[in-house]
Amino acid sequence: MTETTPVICPSCFQEFEVPCPHSTEVPCDVDYDCEVCCRPMRILFEDEDGEMRATACGLGE
Ligand SMILES: [Zn+2]
Repeated sequence: MTETTPVICPSCFQEFEVPCPHSTEVPCDVDYDCEVCCRPMRILFEDEDGEMRATACGLGE
């Protein structure tokens, strides 16, 4: 089972769940397409006191 963490899309502001990278791989950022509006974004995963935190930002158009 893959852990997921909620992230808010910078384009449509909908929240959805993204699969977390392995804890040994954070911090890292990945390209991801919004599951709601399908726009591309970059998601930064960070470990904060053992909690996975995801921050999304747009790629800029
Ligand atoms: Zn979206």
